Amino acid sequence: MGGMNDVFDLSRAGLADVESRLDMPRRDFMKFCATLAATLGLPAGAEAAVAKAMESAQRPSVIWLHFQECTGCTESMLRAEHPTLEKLILDVISLDYHETLMVAAGHQAEAARKQAMEANKGKYVLVIEGSIPTKDNGIHCKVGGQTAIEMTKECAKDAAAVIAIGSCASWGGMPSTHPSVAALAGSSPTGAAGVAEILGKPVVTIPGCPPNPYNFLATVVHFLTFGKLPEVDQLGRPKFAYSRLIHEHCERRAHFDAGRFAMEFGDEGHRKGYCLYKLGCKGPETYANCSTLGFGDAGENNWPVGCGHPCIGCTEKGVGFHKPIHQVAKMLNVSPPTQYPRIVEEQGKAASFASAAAIAAIAGAAAGAAVMMTKNLGLSHEAEELKRTKQAAAQDQSGA
Ligand code: SF4
Repeated sequence: MGGMNDVFDLSRAGLADVESRLDMPRRDFMKFCATLAATLGLPAGAEAAVAKAMESAQRPSVIWLHFQECTGCTESMLRAEHPTLEKLILDVISLDYHETLMVAAGHQAEAARKQAMEANKGKYVLVIEGSIPTKDNGIHCKVGGQTAIEMTKECAKDAAAVIAIGSCASWGGMPSTHPSVAALAGSSPTGAAGVAEILGKPVVTIPGCPPNPYNFLATVVHFLTFGKLPEVDQLGRPKFAYSRLIHEHCERRAHFDAGRFAMEFGDEGHRKGYCLYKLGCKGPETYANCSTLGFGDAGENNWPVGCGHPCIGCTEKGVGFHKPIHQVAKMLNVSPPTQYPRIVEEQGKAASFASAAAIAAIAGAAAGAAVMMTKNLGLSHEAEELKRTKQAAAQDQSGA
């Protein structure tokens, strides 16, 4: 208990050091540690261990590579509204190689990378941003004369941990999309792949376009605190951030459940903040914590759905950048409640969760209910579209 009390003693030297290093009041620092511990899903009191780890002068060396990408992951990390987030990230790690941020260029930069790798052999964290082109022996992306494939393998060899940041590095992301040119269909022009495919082994992935900087920071802090990376799902995503569907905690979920949908951008439903499912929101099939952890520390609702745009499923391989934006989402993990209001009952084709639940009861499977519900939502969507087309035609006629 004495140790715990020491950590919460706001007058201790470690906190004074953090305060001057980060220019952050020690009370705020402790609050931040508590938030990070909560983000990681750690039990109460774990903020003490997190604070100790963050105070430590032992900062892990980080080699950060950039390949096929827009640098949006780095930009979102550094352009966070809250000024201390960037400071915290740069304070808890020793960023020894980062092409966007380092002053060195050319041979100097390459020498810095090799020196950092040698000095921290077996201990450094390798972070990769961007997908890796595999076509034509990887010649579509070269840095310092090496292909991205060669550099990834060289840097991963002696790394203590490998983190793929952003959707591109996680599974190919935007560069892996298939072009509409028939001759190239089925594969991206450069054969863009994620880091795990290149290394042939799982790595920690933090997908998102861009990913939430807190998820990266929390992953690194977990490594610092416990000496290992956090538990991940089958796609390498930390479970603390990617174990729940966006739909499960969405602020518009009550509208979904009540059958209130925006039908087009700017319509009454959209202005009233109704559910964006019928505009193609992929929240029901996308695992991420976007609906619970705002972006850029700019306050509540600071995420696509909060701003009125459907989720495009950027954290989900096979959804983000692959499914058309307006295609309605597949419903996953739906356990229908016993009753819900009916949806567009005047159409006579209404979808309702109640009917879906009844079907589930007969079939004995909630999955069956989800399929039926999605199908019915599609039907009611078509009916509503037809009604709106008719109304528009009638208006045109009366105007003419
Ligand atoms: Fe939120 Fe999208 Fe689910 Fe609607 S469909 S509740 S907007 S996540």
